[in-house]
Amino acid sequence: MPVALVISAPSGAGKTTLVKRLLALEPSVDFAVSVTTRPRRRMEADGRDYRFVTEDEFTGMIERDELLEWAGVFGNRYGTPKSALDSARRRGRDILLDIDVQGASSLIGRVPEAVTVFVLPPSRQVHESRLRSRSTEDEGSLRTRLGEAAAEIGWCMQFDHVVINEDLDEAVAVLQSILVAARARLSRMMPRILPILKEFGVSSRPDAEVLT
Ligand code: 5GP
Repeated sequence: MPVALVISAPSGAGKTTLVKRLLALEPSVDFAVSVTTRPRRRMEADGRDYRFVTEDEFTGMIERDELLEWAGVFGNRYGTPKSALDSARRRGRDILLDIDVQGASSLIGRVPEAVTVFVLPPSRQVHESRLRSRSTEDEGSLRTRLGEAAAEIGWCMQFDHVVINEDLDEAVAVLQSILVAARARLSRMMPRILPILKEFGVSSRPDAEVLT
């Protein structure tokens, strides 16, 4: 079973950079392109960063039950199309979901291959200065995002893993290690383990004995 790496963070924690770095290191991982009603930013491409849709189109997707999860974030709606996970499953590809904290926690227990990661800033002060140095937001939405951060950080206790983003290279290395370890879980390795066990004449039971 492939890994669905679900990465969440309060905005300004550096998640987007981390995700881009991980995807560059791991070309076999697909990126789950979300749909959003948010206007496209300069440098963003439709179909690569997001699928940009109207409010009506988004509502239509909810009504047709096409979304695995969706959430309202800062006045816009974002959702993961079920088709993204289905296609990764069909092709046996690992997939990375970059979604908000609320959406990520709604997947816990519902998506068996999900491995959840929370990216935490090293301190409140660093978080605030990183958020302010970003040029994509006006002052109003900056204040909104700052106000939301504390509430979002509280959700980190529900996640499987936490990456503290102090040093970017180190954080990328930790994230990659989580992916590598997730791939090596016994349950995911079964298709590869069984033929090896068979060659050795060993059964797959935990109390395995050599078969005669
Ligand atoms: P931004 O507008 O900065 O690209 O994203 C705002 C927030 O929406 C980020 O935390 C991002 O991870 C989250 N987000 C992006 N796609 C999805 C999605 O499909 N579902 C949910 N729940 N959140 C998403």
